[in-house]
Amino acid sequence: MSQQFDLIAIGGGSGGLAVAEKAAQLGRRVAVVESGQLGGTCVNAGCVPKKVMWYGANLASAAADAAGYGVRVRTDGIDWPTLVAGRNQYVANINSYWDGYVEDQGITRIQGQAQFVDAKTIAVAGQHYSADHIVIATGGRPIVPRMPGAELGITSDGFFALSEQPKRVAIIGGGYIGVELAGVMRALGTEITIVALEDRVLALFDPMISEVLAETMTADGMTLRLEFEVAALAQDSDGLALVARDGERLGGFDTLLWAVGRAPNTRDLNLEAAGVTVQPNGLIPVDAYQNTNVPGVYALGDVTGREPLTPVAIAAGRRLGERVFGGKADLKLDYENIPTVVFAHPPIGKVGLTEPEARERFGDTLTVYETRFTPMRYALNAHGPKTAMKLICTGPEERVVGIHLIGDGVDEMLQGFAVAVNMGATKADFDATVAIHPTSAEELVTLKVPVRRPGEST
Ligand SMILES: Cc1cc2nc3c(=O)[nH]c(=O)nc-3n(C[C@H](O)[C@H](O)[C@H](O)COP(=O)(O)OP(=O)(O)OC[C@H]3O[C@@H](n4cnc5c(N)ncnc54)[C@H](O)[C@@H]3O)c2cc1C
Repeated sequence: MSQQFDLIAIGGGSGGLAVAEKAAQLGRRVAVVESGQLGGTCVNAGCVPKKVMWYGANLASAAADAAGYGVRVRTDGIDWPTLVAGRNQYVANINSYWDGYVEDQGITRIQGQAQFVDAKTIAVAGQHYSADHIVIATGGRPIVPRMPGAELGITSDGFFALSEQPKRVAIIGGGYIGVELAGVMRALGTEITIVALEDRVLALFDPMISEVLAETMTADGMTLRLEFEVAALAQDSDGLALVARDGERLGGFDTLLWAVGRAPNTRDLNLEAAGVTVQPNGLIPVDAYQNTNVPGVYALGDVTGREPLTPVAIAAGRRLGERVFGGKADLKLDYENIPTVVFAHPPIGKVGLTEPEARERFGDTLTVYETRFTPMRYALNAHGPKTAMKLICTGPEERVVGIHLIGDGVDEMLQGFAVAVNMGATKADFDATVAIHPTSAEELVTLKVPVRRPGEST
């Protein structure tokens, strides 16, 4: 006998909880299956614990800058265990919130690992559960490549489990997770080396962002080794080491951290039993409505590989619930113009297309505005990280199709500008908006002379 529901969400992370909540609010019988803690990656090993650490790191940086402003702060080093204990308690509070909320919503929580039995039935710990609608929202896990000594490295999950502050860390990977964790640890006093296969950090971002970030990281005392292909990890007498394909050895580390991407959690779902198509890399292909190839089976969030961000998984989940149970047959998530922030030091924000992407899509019609400056926050400090901003516009009407920001405060700045881009704002709309002075944000509405006009390329 199997227990019957209207909808089962496999995975109690951002996406699974969102679709379950929406279906329950629309009066349906709903279950969420979760093998770990409710909240998923974001709450337990992603956005939330990362951002708590980022705030701690910012306070350490601010304390270092305070003297310039005549504020005498005497710091006594970093108490990593206190930071970690506070962070863990904060996460535990969110877990408890979700436990209570799911119960209040009348959602059945099933603890364990789900596997498909057929397209309408799953098994968890020997029990069968059925539903006409099953949503796969199982997220992903950090990749550890196969190579000699790979197990000597930890991942972002291992970073959050560190009970003591590492002193010398090599981070393998220059993507957003690598640079975020690098920035946090560096601000707290750890020596950092970043190695990356690509010729720049944040290789998928606009080149201006990579350039300014690399300058800032170097000025902050980090070592960047680009186009470095790691072939092995090793334990030497003076610590852990990275061995490059060409034999070069970087050593003397106490921690090696893999930040080379994430793989979808689909391997153990027994998807064949449901007939769900899965790509060789484990991602589940879906159409614009989150439908898999099997009617009544959906996938959303990181497991689909599309814009792996918490608000994206949540938005896709809510729309799916409303489409299936709320009578809104055409409702779907628009994946264009999704804003993203990287909580690096300083933070980075982007919405829309990078300049190379815009050039590919719109050819030589682009007008590009750019500015770089030291923000007033550092007026009384000898050094301060630069802020850089780029506005990419297309056509004679100069519609804004990309905004790229790096600098203090851009993390909170971007959301409103993303609304403008989504509404189709033009450069003239930006110019017509009165500036807020003195801020960094005002630079975005006072950009005058383009660095590139239609027909010119970089
Ligand atoms: C270090 C780090 C920092 C991040 N920072 C940010 C950020 O600042 N902002 C942002 O928007 N995003 C951030 N992300 C990404 C964000 O966490 C993910 O995009 C988001 O969690 C995806 O939600 P999801 O529902 O697809 O999957 P998840 O949140 O990963 O949830 C999937 C859940 O499914 C469970 N599960 C897996 N398989 C099974 C199974 N067979 N049966 C039962 N349960 C199963 C897992 O235990 C997990 O709880 C970060 C990620 C990492 C790793």
